[in-house]
Amino acid sequence: MARYTGPRCRHCRREGSKLFLKGDRCYTDKCAFERRGYAPGQHGQARLKQSDYGIRLREKQRVRRIYGVQEGQFARYFNMADRQKGVTGINLLVLLERRLDNVVYRMGFAESRNQARQLVRHGHFLVNGRKVDIPSFLVKVGDVIEVKEKSRDILPIKQSIETLARRGVPDWLEVDAEAFRGKVKAMPERHHITMPIQEQLIVEFYSK
Ligand code: SF4
Repeated sequence: MARYTGPRCRHCRREGSKLFLKGDRCYTDKCAFERRGYAPGQHGQARLKQSDYGIRLREKQRVRRIYGVQEGQFARYFNMADRQKGVTGINLLVLLERRLDNVVYRMGFAESRNQARQLVRHGHFLVNGRKVDIPSFLVKVGDVIEVKEKSRDILPIKQSIETLARRGVPDWLEVDAEAFRGKVKAMPERHHITMPIQEQLIVEFYSK
């Protein structure tokens, strides 16, 4: 299935919550969800009763859109999470957090996961000194992620680092912004994911 290239704000309006897909704009009064906090389309303002299935489907879609993962890949993450020890829903969120595009975003080298994905694809990052241009690459403890020397003047990266203080870095990562480098100190845990997510609904969706 092709990647969605339409307006991202529609996703927030469809899912009924801010998904922070557009970087700085999400924190301004230009945010489309702040202006029109109802679903897009002709019947967007209609009060529809959601079925149990619908509630679970929407939660799955919401998380998939937050991390910008396509349907098939999201299902593969679920299968991986299900095979791991521990709580499947938490395993799933940890796998999503470990994606290189998410880590680049969390470290403050991009303003959104979408931008991070594009920067990674364009080969602007090194992992342990080697170029990695695969956004779904899963980082592990001890990995060092840095902006390639030639890429340090790229405007989106510089602008994003400037807003790092406001966004903060989760404590499973450490960042040396001046050196354009960060390190994975530990695996992410459930409490590091501060967006309101009900992962149990996703597990129920796939277990139907
Ligand atoms: Fe969502 Fe950000 Fe668009 Fe607001 S500006 S609707 S939070 S993507």
